[in-house]
Amino acid sequence: MSEERQRLIREVRQRLESLGRAGLDRIAIPLPTIAAAAPAPAPADLPAEAPARAPAPAPASARASSGTLPAGNEGMIRATRPAPPRRPAALAAPRSMPAASLFGEPEMELPPVDPSERPAQLAALAAEVAVCARCPHLAATRTRTVFGDGSPTARLMFIGEAPGADEDRTGQPFVGRAGVLLTDMITKGMGLARADVYIANILKSRPPENRDPLPDEVAHCLPYLERQIAIIRPEFLCLLGRIAAQNLLETALPMGRLRGKWYRYRGIATIVTYHPSYLLRNPAAKKDAWEDLQMLMQAMGLKPPGRKKP
Ligand code: URA
Repeated sequence: MSEERQRLIREVRQRLESLGRAGLDRIAIPLPTIAAAAPAPAPADLPAEAPARAPAPAPASARASSGTLPAGNEGMIRATRPAPPRRPAALAAPRSMPAASLFGEPEMELPPVDPSERPAQLAALAAEVAVCARCPHLAATRTRTVFGDGSPTARLMFIGEAPGADEDRTGQPFVGRAGVLLTDMITKGMGLARADVYIANILKSRPPENRDPLPDEVAHCLPYLERQIAIIRPEFLCLLGRIAAQNLLETALPMGRLRGKWYRYRGIATIVTYHPSYLLRNPAAKKDAWEDLQMLMQAMGLKPPGRKKP
């Protein structure tokens, strides 16, 4: 990329960040080639939103942009760091493929890994994680780390929050009640096998009493997840719940604002939906989660299992 182009990108990004800090979370621009984002509607029956939290520190290269393909040339883009939470205007929910990333970034820093080398690289990373003591308290209280599970060549990766009691006992992600629901979403909802996707968490160790991960725990553990994502290099990420979404997308926006839209995480088309544990507590939100999955399936070229052609 030329120096002139890099300078331009830097200036535009700085301007967007400054607008974001000033409270503006989107601007109208003509978009002849870049895709546009339309915020999803906030349904009247949206479940109570989780309180916004300050985002954990994350590398600058992890910044995300949101977008969907435009109906016309006019669209909206989100400033790099969104403004304090506000309810979005009720517009049509996006249903199209994710947009190309703005300004040619953020992209993956690590080079692609040949599929044949991924199992070994994941195993080496898992071995590193298994002896990690960056969070002494978690290392002392966990039974074992929960690295992640699934296909090293998965097109789709789900990212949850942290292991619970069942995961801590077995070493596998999402094997408790929330895991049963996630498995149903993958198999019955999307028509995929659980082994076809990859499932991981923000934290690899169980927080005591299943409390929320602390910011320094996230900061310690996120580099492992980033390397995991870089090895697998999925086409799609599905972030399950507030903790995954806020930390990977570097935002304090609540779930009701985050779901139903496309983002880019290091160049990977990314969607946010409710955490299965939340859905178990709030079954009314399942219809929103199903909408999110359908958006994902459409982008992946998948049809719900019942409607597949013979
Ligand atoms: N909840 C999560 O976020 N991850 C798991 O692995 C299990 C429950």
